[in-house]
Amino acid sequence: MSLLVVKDLHAGYGPVSVLHGLSLEVPEGEIVVMLGANGAGKTTTLRALSGMISPDRGEITFKGAALSGKPASFVRAGIAHVPQGRGTFPNLSVEDNLKIGAHSRSAAGLDAELNRWYGFFPVLGERRTQKAGSLSGGEQQMLAFARALMMQPQLLLLDEPSLGLAPTITQDLFRLLRSLNDDVGTTMLIVEQNANLALQIANYAYVLESGKIVVEGLAESVSSDDSIRRAYLGV
Ligand code: ATP
Repeated sequence: MSLLVVKDLHAGYGPVSVLHGLSLEVPEGEIVVMLGANGAGKTTTLRALSGMISPDRGEITFKGAALSGKPASFVRAGIAHVPQGRGTFPNLSVEDNLKIGAHSRSAAGLDAELNRWYGFFPVLGERRTQKAGSLSGGEQQMLAFARALMMQPQLLLLDEPSLGLAPTITQDLFRLLRSLNDDVGTTMLIVEQNANLALQIANYAYVLESGKIVVEGLAESVSSDDSIRRAYLGV
């Protein structure tokens, strides 16, 4: 069953229209990637799917119900968004950043959630009292993932997790995302420019060009199709 169904989405910024009838689905338990060049509209798509901008037209259906309104209603429905640039607070400690994301408000529930994610991202546990701004880029990205996971989301939206990171760090992060999906079952929609790595961990892929989906298919098929790679992915 598809957790998220988007139909004929049109959205933009005031008079600037960016998405021109985008449709996509994210099945429960899968990793779906959206690829595309700079300016194709990937970030705009995630902004619409997290309630940061309102669509001009089209439908967003999550768990079978139409979704609209402010970001808080998207969060309540179970969608967590990790924006480009991560959105963590550099002057707060790692642990305080995680507490801000917490779904549970009871002390015991909070401890259990913190320990769960420290178990998954041990480096965050080791650095729990350090300021977030003192972490490396890869660690900060892990903190952004963990903070979103503290909300116990059913869908994680990730905007360019590889941005500004060295290739080996990105590779480790993508492996972590794959094991998060395998072990915890977290459903993800990942927007990425690093097509090679994203296709390695995804089940399904969409390629966006000028606000429209131009290619879609199983990640392995997209990855092994040289004409798609040359035409759209530049790899
Ligand atoms: P990138 O990888 O560069 O972020 P992208 O595929 O995520 O690319 P978007 O950031 O969604 O693309 O941008 C799509 C278009 O919308 C671009 O032409 C961009 O200039 C425009 N745009 C983005 N944000 C705004 C904004 N706040 N106001 C007006 N136009 C915007």
